[in-house]
Amino acid sequence: MKISKKDYNTFMDWAQKYFRKAREATSDTVLEKFQKEYRTATKRMKKHTKNIGLKAYIGRHIFRNSPWLKSVKGIWQVNPGEDFCAYCLNELDKEIYLFDLNDHYYCDYECMEEMFSLMSELEDDEEKQHLAVEVEEPWDSYWSDCQMLFDQFRDLKPDSRYYVSKEVEATAENHLDILLLIQRIKHVIYSGVYDSVWMNGGHDGPSAWHTYQMLQSLEKDLEKLQELEEKMKDKREPQKVVYRIWNFASTLPEKRSRSMFNRLRRKYKCGEFKEVNASLWDVEDEAVMQYIVGCFKDVRLPYSVEKQLYCELCEKPYSNIETNYNRGKDDYYYCDDCYRYYKDGFK
Ligand SMILES: [Zn+2]
Ligand SMILES: [Zn+2]
Repeated sequence: MKISKKDYNTFMDWAQKYFRKAREATSDTVLEKFQKEYRTATKRMKKHTKNIGLKAYIGRHIFRNSPWLKSVKGIWQVNPGEDFCAYCLNELDKEIYLFDLNDHYYCDYECMEEMFSLMSELEDDEEKQHLAVEVEEPWDSYWSDCQMLFDQFRDLKPDSRYYVSKEVEATAENHLDILLLIQRIKHVIYSGVYDSVWMNGGHDGPSAWHTYQMLQSLEKDLEKLQELEEKMKDKREPQKVVYRIWNFASTLPEKRSRSMFNRLRRKYKCGEFKEVNASLWDVEDEAVMQYIVGCFKDVRLPYSVEKQLYCELCEKPYSNIETNYNRGKDDYYYCDDCYRYYKDGFK
């Protein structure tokens, strides 16, 4: 390429916007309009294309390679086909699009509406009348369902693609997000609104067909997400627990307390139970806790055990598990703050 990438992008972004409304133009007109807005860029581009001239360069090397333009007797006309939005000329997503009954495809309903008003403007303009094409909404009985599902589809699809297309780590955040997504998809596709489309398999007009395609796509994602969720459940570590043992070991006569410690030390490596202070020991393993409690029972020492969980998101210890069940959809427990965030942010 003779001109810089930056100038090329500036020019193409401008040209796309220009053709949106103009629908057709010669290289001459395009260059003239562009020059008015981008003087310095045009100068630079002219310098780099001295031997063939910028106008010829635009035609031969830029517009001829553009997938949404075609040349008709030396005039460039928009030609978006199935891959580009008929109005804004952006490349369309393979699944997220709408269409009219005249083989035009759109990013969304907003672009379709823009197209309606542009076409009526063109029709009213004698000089540009020939550029107006017919645009008709697929007004069958499923069109409003189709539009409604489209809005939900475009909201859900990027999220489900994110999880379906790559392997994500088995974290609490991803797991909760996937569970929520499963719920969101189910709410939409099995809401009852689309029952007749499910029943007729989309064979009831173009809107029904498109609606059916979107439903099927979400159902496929749902199956994959459910598999993914199963795998994630297996991969996640059990929730970390700590047993806090409040005790009176330090009140024992030295000989007895030493013998008890020796017994514990023989049985357990250092680190399996942690002395927070003389009267508070933390243990993570339930069997170790049971053994220590047994020792206290043997010497008739009073003790109490409090079970605490580490919040799966922030890893803060979380007590109150008996009274306040901050249980997520993933069956793990969360501290009050994270649970509140999880409820607001994830649900
Ligand atoms: Zn568009
Ligand atoms: Zn937390």
